[in-house]
Amino acid sequence: MAKRATNKKKTQTKKSPVKSAAKTKKKTAVSRKSSRKGYSKKDLDHFRNIILEQKKEIMEEIATLRESIMDTSTGEYTGENSSYSIHMADQGGEQMEREITFMFASREGKYLRYLEDALQRIENNEYGFCRDCGTLIEKERLEAVPIAQQCFDCKTKRSKSK
Ligand SMILES: [Zn+2]
Repeated sequence: MAKRATNKKKTQTKKSPVKSAAKTKKKTAVSRKSSRKGYSKKDLDHFRNIILEQKKEIMEEIATLRESIMDTSTGEYTGENSSYSIHMADQGGEQMEREITFMFASREGKYLRYLEDALQRIENNEYGFCRDCGTLIEKERLEAVPIAQQCFDCKTKRSKSK
């Protein structure tokens, strides 16, 4: 009669694998930068044009500068500034190197790099934000100083603390 009485329930309700529920969607993981409301594409194009225009001017300035310190016929530096009148033993890579070094050591060269950085920020949709407080930098300020990375408030704060 009680034949099957000892037959304990072994199957303790196996947990059915809940795979679908394990996939928790994490939308918030995406970088916040892109979600910040920046300047519109139209504005960014506007800023890009200003930067490209400045870049053109700088490039011309650098070309003029280079000519003024280098005799283009001989390829030697002839400027009055003695530090640039270097006797070139090897005309070639070394000269090219010096030119590049000079270019980036100059004020114009530095500014050129800032312009390049600004263009890069436009491409990355990071342009126009204050790197200190994160707010959008005033349009008027960016038009005047397209390479600005700080809003006016932070800029004045920083220069005061220095
Ligand atoms: Zn700021």
